[in-house]
Amino acid sequence: MNAFNTLESINTVNMARWHELEQIMAHSMKNHYFKMVYQPLVSLTSGQLMGFESLVRCESPRYGIVGPDEFIPHVEQSGMILDLGDWILEQTLHDFSKMKKIGMEGITISLNISPVQIIEGDVFSKVMKLLRKHNVDPASIKVELTETALIHSPHKIAKTFEQFNKEGVKVWLDDFGTGYASLGLLRQFNIDGLKIDRSFINGIATNNEDFTLCSAIIAMAQRLGLETIAEGIEQREQLQILEQLGCDVAQGYLLGRPSSLENSTATWVK
Ligand code: C2E
Ligand code: MG
Ligand code: MG
Ligand code: MG
Repeated sequence: MNAFNTLESINTVNMARWHELEQIMAHSMKNHYFKMVYQPLVSLTSGQLMGFESLVRCESPRYGIVGPDEFIPHVEQSGMILDLGDWILEQTLHDFSKMKKIGMEGITISLNISPVQIIEGDVFSKVMKLLRKHNVDPASIKVELTETALIHSPHKIAKTFEQFNKEGVKVWLDDFGTGYASLGLLRQFNIDGLKIDRSFINGIATNNEDFTLCSAIIAMAQRLGLETIAEGIEQREQLQILEQLGCDVAQGYLLGRPSSLENSTATWVK
């Protein structure tokens, strides 16, 4: 098989899976097979729990577990992200108000937002409405948007970030370092923090280039007055390096895996 055929057969496999996802998603929406899990974020200045990131899961008896990295692009393309995104917001804020009630008053919650929710879904108004409904302080909310999403509709996104900013909701750029956002573009957005992509953290203790990139991102963010958050920390050595570099917030399996509301609160409420 030559390279061209290999490429073609991969595409055929991908297309088949893409069509299958259509069924899986429709089936899962209809039967409520989505759920939310929560992963802890730890402040490196205080060493204390800062809050949680909310992450969606899909598991059905018929199709098993499908990861968000696979199904989010699909629901973004089909438009289903609008309904699913509404459900994610409602469920997350409902769970967050529960966390706060059981003695976690000072914590924050990070929400992943799709650019489709900004461009077609008026996500700002929806979030604000839910904050009022659940009596949640806007200052305890972080909105995460991937760096790659910025290029889609920069004006609309910039305006939405500004609206969040005015209300005191923080905006973090997710998977930072993997997209194409130039430093010049970054200046046009009201951003509060950069989440350094897992792929750089992965090599921070072993690969000179990853270390250099991480230290440059942190130094730049500090000069620009932005918070830095490291995701995907699995080893103690990675955490120590990030602490030395002055990174603000840490997240990863080393500190805690994403888990149900019940498990998360049981682990972190002392
Ligand atoms: P993300 O927002 O960058 O989330 C971080 C991903 O890294 C999560 O994968 C998390 O489980 C995983 N992770 C965290 N710590 C570690 C670690 O130490 N090692 C490794 N190997 N992985 C770690 P997950 O939950 O599969 O989510 C993948 C992506 O799907 C997310 O990346 C986000 O872009 C998207 N996503 C997840 N939930 C939602 C959601 O509710 N809405 C939207 N729009 N996107 C979501
Ligand atoms: Mg995220
Ligand atoms: Mg990320
Ligand atoms: Mg990611």
